[in-house]
Amino acid sequence: MGLNRAHIALGGNLGDVKQTFIQARSELNAVGGVKLLKSSKLYRTRPVGPAGQPDYLNAVIEIETSIKPDTLLTLLHRIEDAHGRIRAEQWGARTLDLDILTYGDIQIDGEALTIPHLMISKRMFVLCPLCDVDSNWQHPLLKVTAEQMMNQLIASGEPPLPEGERW
Ligand code: ATP
Ligand code: CA
Ligand code: CA
Repeated sequence: MGLNRAHIALGGNLGDVKQTFIQARSELNAVGGVKLLKSSKLYRTRPVGPAGQPDYLNAVIEIETSIKPDTLLTLLHRIEDAHGRIRAEQWGARTLDLDILTYGDIQIDGEALTIPHLMISKRMFVLCPLCDVDSNWQHPLLKVTAEQMMNQLIASGEPPLPEGERW
């Protein structure tokens, strides 16, 4: 299926999350057919979902890949599992969450896999790091860029994230 640019969101709030992200990024880059192009900054964010969770770290990486989307998702699940991901309640605390945000300008609308990720336009913790790596990325359905989506969210009253750090 040729080479495609894709964006992967990383999230987590249990254990040494920064170290987990560093390892997951290099594990992904080590896979044949995946090349790391860019990393966003690393952001500390307030949890959404069940109350009483630790803060999250969030980041986005940009890759170039020849692996097709459903195989890429299986690979991401394997990396999550290797880092001790346990699936309990929805949006509950986790060591590592890896979501496919975008894949070329592909659109997939399935239960097991939706691309672009359904929540992109609503989540500051996704849009802000996505803008670090590709603020001009355009949503193939909504026809707005990551930067425009982030500005819309800010205009609707959502506070921007505090400055991130390199990792
Ligand atoms: P959210 O999807 O709202 O960020 P979550 O990441 O906490 O929630 P998970 O429990 O990690 O949810 O994943 C639930 C299911 O979502 C996965 O098993 C997967 O099949 C499905 N899914 C659908 N689209 C995607 C995507 N673009 N990237 C990753 N998983 C996806
Ligand atoms: Ca997620
Ligand atoms: Ca997920």
